[in-house]
Amino acid sequence: MDLKQFITIVEDWPKPGIKFKDITTLMDNGPAYKYATDQIVEYASKRQIDLVVGPEARGFIIGCPVAYSLGVGFAPVRKEGKLPRETIKVQYGLEYGKDVLTIHKDAIKPGQRVLITDDLLATGGTIDATIKLVEGLGGVVAGIAFLIELSYLDGRNKLDGYDILTLMKY
Ligand code: IMP
Repeated sequence: MDLKQFITIVEDWPKPGIKFKDITTLMDNGPAYKYATDQIVEYASKRQIDLVVGPEARGFIIGCPVAYSLGVGFAPVRKEGKLPRETIKVQYGLEYGKDVLTIHKDAIKPGQRVLITDDLLATGGTIDATIKLVEGLGGVVAGIAFLIELSYLDGRNKLDGYDILTLMKY
């Protein structure tokens, strides 16, 4: 299936000059969402995954159906102040300023093999921070899966050495 036909390119959003890749038109198409999920499940099933981890909010949309299908758990990575119990955190750079991502301290057991998911790989900053959280708790990043990779932003370089699946490239 050609998944790109389900992505809507929104010109000049959220800022002039940005061509935003809107995945909601893929998600609201049942066969396309299932096909994309199944591709990631197939990739994950060869990597002995114990747990899926994804950053809010679109990492949940990709990761939760994959976790369900694999029969493993899902642990959310969230912005600071959103998780109710003890967390570890990591600061990461945004285009303007900094942000903080957190995960519950007991979300991952040392040695667990983790699949990280998100909708889109741009500069790689979000997933680099997510990797630090997973590894900070002793997890092993066994794979990273995205729907979309913006190749021209070279996020893949930042994630050098990790096993990455992307279903669409722009
Ligand atoms: P990065 O940290 O620079 O790799 O940016 C990736 C994050 O920004 C992901 O969590 C995406 O959800 C979000 N993002 C950046 N550009 C787009 C886009 O064009 N469509 C959807 N999400 C985007």
